[in-house]
Amino acid sequence: MLSIRNILAFCILVFLLSSCKEKVKAVWISEIPEGDNAELTAELAELTNPCYKSENYIPDLEHLDHTSLKRIKCNFHVIRNSKGERNFSEKEGVKFIKDMVLSANGSYFRNDKMKLPVGNDTPVITGRFGMDIWPTDYIPNDDGIYFHDDDEFYYVINRGPEKNIFKRDVFEKYGIQKDSVVNIFIQDLHIDSLNSTSYKPSSNGVAFATWIKAGLWYYSANKTSYDKNGKAVQPLYYRPAKQLCHEMGHVFGLAHAWGRDNCEDTPTHSNCWSDKGFGPCKVASNNIMDYNANMSALTPCQVGRVHMTALTRSNKRNLLIKDWCKLNDFKSINIKKDFIWNSCKTLQGNLTIHDGARLVMRCETSLANGATITVHPGGELVLQGARLYNDCEGQWEGIKVLHKGKQKGKVTYLGNANIIEDCKHEINIPPANKIKS
Ligand SMILES: [Zn+2]
Repeated sequence: MLSIRNILAFCILVFLLSSCKEKVKAVWISEIPEGDNAELTAELAELTNPCYKSENYIPDLEHLDHTSLKRIKCNFHVIRNSKGERNFSEKEGVKFIKDMVLSANGSYFRNDKMKLPVGNDTPVITGRFGMDIWPTDYIPNDDGIYFHDDDEFYYVINRGPEKNIFKRDVFEKYGIQKDSVVNIFIQDLHIDSLNSTSYKPSSNGVAFATWIKAGLWYYSANKTSYDKNGKAVQPLYYRPAKQLCHEMGHVFGLAHAWGRDNCEDTPTHSNCWSDKGFGPCKVASNNIMDYNANMSALTPCQVGRVHMTALTRSNKRNLLIKDWCKLNDFKSINIKKDFIWNSCKTLQGNLTIHDGARLVMRCETSLANGATITVHPGGELVLQGARLYNDCEGQWEGIKVLHKGKQKGKVTYLGNANIIEDCKHEINIPPANKIKS
């Protein structure tokens, strides 16, 4: 039986044990002091204007969560003649388009090893971007795939007096959600082209700033090419997905890769369609931004450019699914070693910097509604040229520093270019002192 004395002794023991364990206290910071880490200042000075360098946007394969998945909103317009012919029927068109998007996304995610230059050791980086078919919220039963019967627009011609490939009129007439969705127009052959014996259909596509003309999908779906032995070599059925990957690459800042394209990992070459085993076409490229039979590879630089373009150019950023507003705990990022973030980011979850780790933030980073940055004792956050804000007309919560005994999380800034906005627990950044020598 428990005596009063035993109970008392037990309570004293519990009290003593709990007071030995230091309590962790959380404090919302309201001001950030200037940092004095000369070594870090010197290191960062070497990396000027980092937010517009595509190499800083290449996904880190060991920390893929530091690069948000970019989901590009697309809709599709199948244009037929006034009789509803010369392009897909509703049933086959919807299936074909969905298959094409799946296939194109597969290419971006899988990504193949580059064939050029021969013997290269260019890393293979998963794209971390893809397309989503995006309906409106105002058209009844909308699935984002539209059919128009129009004699003026059902065909695409890329040469000769009737050339219309670069005309914008189809977009002006039929575009839907023009500023926020990539409109993709699927046109096919003119009936007269079919009747001409000299006409050789080729894959026609063209990318404009925020929309695409994708030609000859219907033709491709119904044709297969054969080698001299009569063996089917490449069903043309596979071409539209490659064409779609290519044109979307243009929309998101990629140039043709056989020439100068601001990427050192895409060598200049003769743009051969396929391997010939000798001469300039000994080995053909397999890059998505060249014209070749494979079109299945993007280099790290190209992937980085897509991510940079998507976040830093507002007309492209508008084309992404805005999944950085609603706080998503599953997308929270835990920093457990030192990182320098030299790129813009759209964080979907909370950000936590753990003991022994330092995070330097240097570019525009949007935080979700109600998101918190937490800095653990022994952890460090440094802002240098950073803008922390909410891109959703809401507020993020603030920066919380944990204290444990005498140890606490550290938050400092360097330089004069830091901005903190839209933060519920407001944070002041007093002006920096004169530059220290
Ligand atoms: Zn092109």
